Amino acid sequence: MIIVFKSKVNQEDVEKVVQRVEKLGLIAHISQGEETTIVGLVGDTTKVDPKQIEVLPVVEKVMHVGEPYKLANRAFHPDDSIIDVSGVKVGGDHLALIAGPCSVESKEQVIEIAKAAKAAGANLLRGGAFKPRTSPYAFQGMGSEGLDILVAAKEATGLPIVSELMSAEYIEEFNEKVDLVQIGARNMQNFDLLKEVGKRCTKPILLKRGLSSTYEEWIMSAEYIMASGNPNVILCERGVRTFETYTRNTLDLQAIPVIKRLTHLPIIIDPSHAGGKWWLVEPMAKASVAAGCDGLMIEVHNNPECALCDGPQSLKPKKYTELIEEIKDIAKIVGKEV
Ligand code: PEP
Ligand code: MN
Repeated sequence: MIIVFKSKVNQEDVEKVVQRVEKLGLIAHISQGEETTIVGLVGDTTKVDPKQIEVLPVVEKVMHVGEPYKLANRAFHPDDSIIDVSGVKVGGDHLALIAGPCSVESKEQVIEIAKAAKAAGANLLRGGAFKPRTSPYAFQGMGSEGLDILVAAKEATGLPIVSELMSAEYIEEFNEKVDLVQIGARNMQNFDLLKEVGKRCTKPILLKRGLSSTYEEWIMSAEYIMASGNPNVILCERGVRTFETYTRNTLDLQAIPVIKRLTHLPIIIDPSHAGGKWWLVEPMAKASVAAGCDGLMIEVHNNPECALCDGPQSLKPKKYTELIEEIKDIAKIVGKEV
């Protein structure tokens, strides 16, 4: 349930209403806009009689939200959320360009790629240090040493870092070293992890869509993080499982308008994990920007043939540079600045 207050209402009046609903055991989340104040009620709202609230002189209207998520709901927060990732804005009319290797392999590799990505126009550097691999015998990532390499690449280029967190054990280390904490597709419904990053992560979260998760399941996972205390969530569509086996996954471009309609959170697209083939990245990246996404996360490798992970879907720096040049033109048409 959402209480919309009359414009320019004073703080005290809002507090009085909040206290009244909190007495009923509900949690009230206040969202103060420039003109309007909105209060979202989380909990068993059947205890509240909307008519009794609506009759108060400071209240404009009371809305029932059919969806099970409140904090992520567009109704609760009509404006787009713009998430600040160490100075890089994600959402609104900003287009975030995240690039880098699937996995951190060495300092030389990451710094070379980071420099090329930055020169191409990327504003965030990705690199996996803790890797979720299907096989326990595959390369598992460099761990903390990999994070230190990313920090060195950030020092060399100024690009803030995006890296995947797989265990709550490392949250404090990620708070120190990483600028945007990725929760991977395979952990999208690891509810204990979501609660911990909500409580303890001081950095924004990039929440990837689960391999076969519905929009509602995905948004509910964002809701877990937000309800636990971290409101800074960016969603990432990375392809879903379908009957098709030719491509690694199927990119769901409809996710862009749907997520924007249902939530106020930014949504970025990862065309690399979607198609699993480097030559699919360019057309899908362009289509994503045309459809209004808030950013792209693309795997870039200086030597894809020898990559320890996801070489076949990685772009070489030259190709990435050409792609970003073309993306800039599309971004302009849809009102996004690079
Ligand atoms: C990744 O981005 O490195 C990754 C493992 O992605 P996903 O969780 O989407 O498979
Ligand atoms: Mn990868």
